[in-house]
Amino acid sequence: MTSALMPTYNRADLAFDRGEGAYLFSTDGRRYLDFAAGIAVNSLGHSHPHLVKALEEQGRKLWHVSNLYRIPEGERLAERLCGASFADKVFFGNSGAEAIECGIKICRKYHDDTGNPNRWKIIGANGAFHGRTLTALAAAGNPKYLAGFAPDVPGFVHVAFNNLNELRAAIDDETAAILVEPIQGEGGIRAGSRDYIKALREICDEYGLLLFFDEVQCGMGRTGKLFAHEWAGITPDVLATAKGIGGGFPLGACLATDKASAGMTAGTHGSTYGGNPLAMAIGNAVLDVMLAPGFLEGVERTGRKLKAKLEELVRRHPKVFVEVRGEGLIQGLRCDPPAGEIQVALRNAGLLTVTAAENVIRIVPPLIIGEQEIAEAAAIIDKVATAYAAEKLKGAA
Ligand SMILES: *Cc1c(COP(=O)(O)O)cnc(C)c1O
Repeated sequence: MTSALMPTYNRADLAFDRGEGAYLFSTDGRRYLDFAAGIAVNSLGHSHPHLVKALEEQGRKLWHVSNLYRIPEGERLAERLCGASFADKVFFGNSGAEAIECGIKICRKYHDDTGNPNRWKIIGANGAFHGRTLTALAAAGNPKYLAGFAPDVPGFVHVAFNNLNELRAAIDDETAAILVEPIQGEGGIRAGSRDYIKALREICDEYGLLLFFDEVQCGMGRTGKLFAHEWAGITPDVLATAKGIGGGFPLGACLATDKASAGMTAGTHGSTYGGNPLAMAIGNAVLDVMLAPGFLEGVERTGRKLKAKLEELVRRHPKVFVEVRGEGLIQGLRCDPPAGEIQVALRNAGLLTVTAAENVIRIVPPLIIGEQEIAEAAAIIDKVATAYAAEKLKGAA
């Protein structure tokens, strides 16, 4: 496969030309059940009629005007996001990494404006992922992704995830904020415990730090709440989200309280495309569905059913699967054999998933799936695990 694209991805030799709900159709005519959802992006599945309508209607009216003018659809989307969350203000960009960058700037500006310019360091967690810009890479601190791109952007410290002692020990006079994913996605679907998430809030209050959550992957309804931190009953000061927020249209958002974002005045930040009328129309259409009565409760119920099925599969195939972890519709199946091999076998059998760190297969289906899709996915996983155990593991035994 040669191509003029920079070969930065290990692509499967597979292309799709149509999607419908939780299904994708490949150019060679096969049907796949899509439990990868474009890496947790197609939150409402493919070709959702309400999103298609919004795209077509807005597409005929107006795409882009720049942020030199008011964008009423953006004002409405920001207001709705704030109404449904802890936030008072929103900045729209086009991706997760940009939302993270905005959040980092908010954290530094807050302390600079409140007389503590020396507080500029952010404590993050090992195993984190925050995107691929140089600053997002430094914020996550994953040596694998930083290799070759030195010098690293300064100002980031990392401690073990889910570990409060290490975190407290890392705080000093220069600490500005704590940046954590309530559920690590790329890191292998590792959920912060509710006590841990609650304690992060307490520690930030105690030391005057900002609490910054990365909900680019675990947010926007995936756990059965609009944002995953809601389960812990606390609120952050700053939050980055993206992936599911546009249902497949490039959109990211940084949410913050008035207090945290007070310094983000005219001229302090910007994006040419960010929050353009086309993106805002689609963002509003996504929220129409997600905030409709009962939708998020439905995600929670569906998530419980999916998890129960996955737990059953782990019990049935102890040589292939080690454990299930996650919340709602962001689940991980930790494998014993290489997760990449299982993921390819699942794909060949018609089920799309994504791998993650710690030998995990990520299961992040569209939030609109029901019992039928869960049953179909479980049957494919069961078949693949049975065949894998029979073929590959027999020789090893
Ligand atoms: C995907 C992801 C990002 C980066 O988002 P991009 O849109 O690829 O820039 C940041 N944080 C988390 C938790 C993610 O999963």
